[in-house]
Amino acid sequence: MARYVFITGGVVSSLGKGIASAALGALLQARGYRVRLRKLDPYLNVDPGTMSPTQHGEVFVTDDGAETDLDLGHYERFTGRSAVQSDNITTGRIYKDIIDKERRGDYLGATVQVIPHVTNEIKNFVLEGNEDYDFVLCEIGGTVGDIEAMPFIEAIRQLGNDLPRGNAVYVHLTLMPWIAAAGELKTKPTQHSVKELQAMGIAPDILLVRADREIPAEERRKLSQFCNVRPSAVIQALDVPSIYDVPIAYHKEGLDTEVLAAFGIDPAPKPRMDAWETVSERIHNPEGEVTIAIVGKYTGLKDAYKSLIEALYHGGIANRVRVKLEWIESEIFEKEDPSPWLEKVNGILVPGGFGERGAEGKIKAAQFARERKVPYFGICYGMQMAVLDAARNLAGISDADSSEFDRSSGTHVVGIMTEWLKGNQLEKRAENGDLGGTMRLGAYPHPLKSGSLISGIYGSEQVSERHRHRYEVNIAFKDQLEAAGLVFSGVSPDGLLPETIEYPLDVHPWFIGVQYHPELKSRPLEPHPLFASFIEAALEQSRLV
Ligand code: GLN
Repeated sequence: MARYVFITGGVVSSLGKGIASAALGALLQARGYRVRLRKLDPYLNVDPGTMSPTQHGEVFVTDDGAETDLDLGHYERFTGRSAVQSDNITTGRIYKDIIDKERRGDYLGATVQVIPHVTNEIKNFVLEGNEDYDFVLCEIGGTVGDIEAMPFIEAIRQLGNDLPRGNAVYVHLTLMPWIAAAGELKTKPTQHSVKELQAMGIAPDILLVRADREIPAEERRKLSQFCNVRPSAVIQALDVPSIYDVPIAYHKEGLDTEVLAAFGIDPAPKPRMDAWETVSERIHNPEGEVTIAIVGKYTGLKDAYKSLIEALYHGGIANRVRVKLEWIESEIFEKEDPSPWLEKVNGILVPGGFGERGAEGKIKAAQFARERKVPYFGICYGMQMAVLDAARNLAGISDADSSEFDRSSGTHVVGIMTEWLKGNQLEKRAENGDLGGTMRLGAYPHPLKSGSLISGIYGSEQVSERHRHRYEVNIAFKDQLEAAGLVFSGVSPDGLLPETIEYPLDVHPWFIGVQYHPELKSRPLEPHPLFASFIEAALEQSRLV
């Protein structure tokens, strides 16, 4: 039977609860355990699909087509296990299910209440589908004391009693702020946070305490005493240079040992840390550096591009180079010549995006990369914009545009598709349907043209990657665009949806567009081949300039 670790956060948000959970997952895996990570999100949205990336960061898409919290991305990157829809639940989803049941009359006339109905729904969710795992790690979003998180805290409290004795462990992540005037790290916020948790019936077994410097023994003793936690279970979580140093750092501080001890499991056998040590070693001892320009829209908010940034770093790990990112608002190129901005970079990446704003600038970036032979990686929107450049500037379709553009009156080389096949099943989307969940979402397999650049990079002619988009390059323009030099190197199995494009090697050293999001599947221990190859091409380019 699976054992459960519940991870809550206190004091302030943004302490890296997702990464701490993911790192603990990696440490348990390194000891040979099978681990599942799940996220319970207290907000009322049914899923983060409709939330602005500027508010909530990236929407992480799973193979089974769920739009989930970006923490699931950390979970995947640290454990290598592909997340699924049921790894993430929100208050909105729980209430929606309960209200649907209530309307159907499933509650047989009962008054539907937070306790037990909402809490039961949460508990059922937490307990479901865990047969194949030794440990299930459940991270509760938000901070202890948030009104909206109460039902989740109550549910995990109850689970402590529902589960066999010793099968649930509570980890609480807090912060010790450094007060410069006093020259001290303060324990009080953690004390208050634990008190709050205790008032709700949860006594944490382990405190994971973020601090920007060593926590002195006296302060640890104080935390142990006031928070009713064993001295050895006060684990300091110091800032580290890279998130991929976290598993090693937490292991050194004894996090995994304490978790196992709390379950009554002998922690003596050591975990295998060699893979993480290799990653760390490569990150800290790069043999070179490349600069990649990311030409996009929300460039001010890096969380909107979380997986992309990580995938680029993984490409750096694969090539033993440091990857420097230069963020450029694409709108700039609508007024200014891109040359001074892009001349010095070794690769140009146009990431996913929505809406018309900034589109013309992205097309300019693709054009610059194509003409100047700078490695170009177009992801989703970035592929669509590269196709528009080819249509306008190579194929002579001067008014080529996307029906996503407001007041679009040109030729829709990129347009909305309302029907396509997923396996044998016909998928339909309403042109003016709800925004939530009306996209082509999740993993779709497709073949790659043999002999193409991209199939060589994958080392395979059959791939499956994750999608999240509404618009498609219109296959009707394929012949015309191919005659102009663009290669459609991957098309969906039914032949309708272009998946990848490229230019032949005699025309351009590395120009690839993909309609999907390969960054979602890249991991530090297994960098995605496209990112590894893109960084390699950028490295080649850096030797030329
Ligand atoms: N806005 C484009 C579409 O919906 C691209 C989406 C994306 O880049 N994820 O097709």
